[in-house]
Amino acid sequence: MKINEEKVILEENEVSTIIKEKEKKGIERENEKKILVKEIKKIGTQISYDYEIDRSLVSLLHMDNKLKIDYSIPIEDVPDEIAVIPFITGILPMIYLEDITVVLDRIDKDFYEAFDQIREGYKKMLPKGEWKGKIEAKEIIDHSKNPENGKSSVFFSGGVDSTSSLATHIKEKPEFILIWGSDILQNNEKSWETAKQIAQNTADQFGINTNYISSNFRFYLNENALTTKYRELLPVSWWYDVQHGAALLGHVAPIAYKKKLAVHYIPSSYNIHDKNVVCASYPTLDEKMKFCGCHIIHDGFEMTRLEKVKNICDFQKDSKPKITLRVCCTEREEEANCCKCEKCYRTIGELIACKEDPKKFGFPITEKEIRDIKKFFKKEEVQGTAVRHWKEIQNKMLEDQKYFKKLRYAKWIMKFNFDKTKRKDFKKEMWDENGEKI
Ligand SMILES: [Zn+2]
Repeated sequence: MKINEEKVILEENEVSTIIKEKEKKGIERENEKKILVKEIKKIGTQISYDYEIDRSLVSLLHMDNKLKIDYSIPIEDVPDEIAVIPFITGILPMIYLEDITVVLDRIDKDFYEAFDQIREGYKKMLPKGEWKGKIEAKEIIDHSKNPENGKSSVFFSGGVDSTSSLATHIKEKPEFILIWGSDILQNNEKSWETAKQIAQNTADQFGINTNYISSNFRFYLNENALTTKYRELLPVSWWYDVQHGAALLGHVAPIAYKKKLAVHYIPSSYNIHDKNVVCASYPTLDEKMKFCGCHIIHDGFEMTRLEKVKNICDFQKDSKPKITLRVCCTEREEEANCCKCEKCYRTIGELIACKEDPKKFGFPITEKEIRDIKKFFKKEEVQGTAVRHWKEIQNKMLEDQKYFKKLRYAKWIMKFNFDKTKRKDFKKEMWDENGEKI
């Protein structure tokens, strides 16, 4: 990252207090790294953070773009020991790998204890890393009695994973939580409005509350520098491999405190059959997180993607409201799905395998277009995990060949050799300063 002169002066000022403190105490280790949380400002619905860092961390944290989070509910009365959690979780793997001491006044007891357990989860997933770091707090405050029984929330994107979680837990009416600044970056207003609209429509139909969060949490740290620094350790990227799970969950803490949540569900992407996975959202990490009495469930891990689609179809049969899925991996501004990418195609295939009409779930696709999907597989590269999902669709259809042979537009799926598709590997993800993928 380029550092201009003005920024250097700013950073010099911000590191100065810590350096002076060290000189005063004279007991610090030579290369000890500290982050000092100075102030947590809570005004209306917004939390912003003021902190100082050691000089050695200047290349990893953007001190001219400090963390700022906007909630859709007032958060002024959330105590500092809870409000600080999103700040810590956003840089959690960095605290561990850089062996940083976070110095602050107060911390929630549940989270303080979870801090060590999450570290163990990372150690298991990536044993070659040195996972250290600690929190140094003057006071540890116990909010474990905060929740009210049965109150829950779920990250709801409108995709297969989160809609299946909604189907499973509908009796609890889990509050929806959506974060702008995660997969949909803050510079993409139209996609965010579409995602919000779909979540709001579903929420309204089921009488569920929604919570929206806008956060610059992907850009108060230097993801590119961290991906580069740890390229030997990380198979894909900082964000994908170690950051996103804890960082997303931490944003829930102020809502959990305000709404007395007992459990928050993070819908799973992987399932129990996936082995040797390196991913920042996984049961061994997510379920170690805890704050103000609220625990986390990595939800639906026991189900394959096709089983989740079946769960949604069964739910749709039982409930009157119409469900629109938003699965598309291309950036959408208007409709939920493009009906032209692999993920849209795969979900269409899954709905057909469950003997449902994809049009009913937000895929306005014709029979001819479904027949043409096989051309896509002959031309395009497909990720290995996607191939596995397609074989599951194929096997499901083969279980009832009589039925699926009658579907002229879809029977090709039963005969197609998905093993012969061109394979695409995950690429290292890097971002430019405007938040565009490079
Ligand atoms: Zn699509």
